[in-house]
Order: sequence, then C-alpha cells, then structure tokens
Amino acid sequence: MRAIPVIAIDGPSASGKGTVAQAVAQALGFHYLDSGALYRVLGLAAVRAGVNLESESEILNILLNIKIKFEEYKVMLEAVEVSDAIREEPISAAASKVSAHAQVRRALLDRQRAFRQAPGLVADGRDMGSVVFPDAALKIYLTASAEARAERRYKQLIAKGLSANMADLFEETTLRDQRDSERAVAPLKKCADAIEVDSTNLPVFEVVALVLQHFAAISGKR
Ligand code: C5P
Repeated sequence: MRAIPVIAIDGPSASGKGTVAQAVAQALGFHYLDSGALYRVLGLAAVRAGVNLESESEILNILLNIKIKFEEYKVMLEAVEVSDAIREEPISAAASKVSAHAQVRRALLDRQRAFRQAPGLVADGRDMGSVVFPDAALKIYLTASAEARAERRYKQLIAKGLSANMADLFEETTLRDQRDSERAVAPLKKCADAIEVDSTNLPVFEVVALVLQHFAAISGKR
C-alpha cells in the first residue's frame, strides 16, 4: 500500500512557511498541520500558569493537562480561541523555550502524525522532514534573509493590530532561530534530502508554484 503523501516545509521563523504551506494544502486539497501552533499554545499556557519555562517536568505537566484543538484555521485552548494570542512576540519566545525539551517533543509526536490522513498532508515547522515525517514525499527547506523575515513578521503583527518594533523583532527572531538551531533535540536544520528555496525575493505565489511543481514532478514517479 502506498503511504499517504506528506509535504514537509521546514525553515526559520517568518520564512513564509505557514502561508506557503496553507496555499499548497488548499491547491492540492490536502490537510494542513501548523506544528508551531502546538508549541505556541503550550508556551501560552505555561506563561499563563507562571511556570518555569526551563523546567521540563513542569512544562510536560502543563502539556498533559491542557486541551489543544484546531478548528478549521482557529486554534483553541480549553475551548477558547487563542489564534491571535499565540502570535504575540513574548509567546514566540516562550514557544521556542518549551519546544527545546525532549520529553515535550516526544509527547507531541503521535499527535502530529495523526494529521497524516488521505488524500495527503502539508506540514510546516522545524523538524517535519527530519523527525516527524522522515518519509515525507517532498521536503522543502524554506529560507529568506534575516532582514526580510523580520520585516514580514513586522507586517504580520501590524496587520493583526498588534504592536511591533522592527529592531526588537530582528533581535528576537535572530535569537529564536539561534535557540531553535542550536538545541540538542530536533534542531532546525536542512535535511540532506530537502530542497532549499530562498524566498527573499520571491512573491508567495511563486514559492507556492515552485513547491507544487516539485510535488507534481515526484508524483509522476511515485
Ligand atoms: O513556526 P512557528 O514560528 O510558529 O514556531 C514557534 C516556535 O515553535 C519555534 O520558534 C520553535 O521553537 C518551535 N517549533 C518547533 N518545532 C516545530 C515547529 C515549531 O520546535 N516543528
């Protein structure tokens, strides 16, 4: 039996993964997993509970006691929508801290894999191709210059009516990427079998078209 195809899109923060992954999923009629949202909800719950983000046992305890749900494109924590709250900058940093714990990552594995349902899945994150779906049909490593990423993040936050400062964002995203790349478990890295796409000077629709082209090319061979 042929495995349900997965398109894994990994890369640093604000490289456009979410936007591209959603558009690709829509074009193919595939399911979509925003794995970062899971770590963000956990970060939000941990901040709200006032626990030490560096404590693996305390964070794991929070994870085992909260209800996270995706409803269409809404993210819910205990039946309350947190889609915007999880995008705020302090929560980005908290997500990056709680996601560095090995047991936390392990506890979220099955949950992420459960999104693999017919006719296919597009998943975005940091370790989609390396750990969660190592047998993904297509692995994309999406990058963009640090400046372009900070600017995109700035525009996203402003568009949501949230406050933002370019210089702070640049520093925070650089720090977050460094933490995500240097951690011991499932660090952000380009897999040997991933195709690197630099989106610094590419509009979203071109990146989406490129991913769809790559997928069509391998689908012909599958
Ligand atoms: O992708 P997003 O920016 O929403 O992810 C928020 C944080 O969650 C990242 O900075 C990273 O620390 C963590 N994350 C992760 N593994 C993933 C997705 C996100 O560690 N697959």
